[in-house]
Amino acid sequence: MRWPRVVAAARPSSRYWAPDTRVRATAAREALRKRSRGRCEGCGGSATDYSHRRTVSIRDEHQWCPCNALHLCRTCHRWAHDNPEQARERGWHVSRYENNPGTVPAVTIAGRFILDCEGGGSHLPGVGANR
Ligand SMILES: [Zn+2]
Ligand SMILES: [Zn+2]
Repeated sequence: MRWPRVVAAARPSSRYWAPDTRVRATAAREALRKRSRGRCEGCGGSATDYSHRRTVSIRDEHQWCPCNALHLCRTCHRWAHDNPEQARERGWHVSRYENNPGTVPAVTIAGRFILDCEGGGSHLPGVGANR
């Protein structure tokens, strides 16, 4: 099906990587490293991966934002992709229809957290992850 003209014009090119997106991605990566102190937020191992909670394809102010990310090791990152239901339950994955990923608690090795957009987190009652 051909896209209607207006929709086609509004449709972002998947190749296009806006300069401000690059800047925000860099800032988000840095904030995430500070939040995690380099430790995997799933298991406490060595963190290597910037893992999006809500798919990166949603382009809004939280696309590249610490509230929408977990710093994971490769094993935990892969686990999340291989176990989507459990990943959803612990807030590692958030629905693409969630406007504000930060409102969904994330279960990490250190407990349950509400992750803010500045790279901080508020601890909530409940048990942490023990994969
Ligand atoms: Zn891990
Ligand atoms: Zn955010």
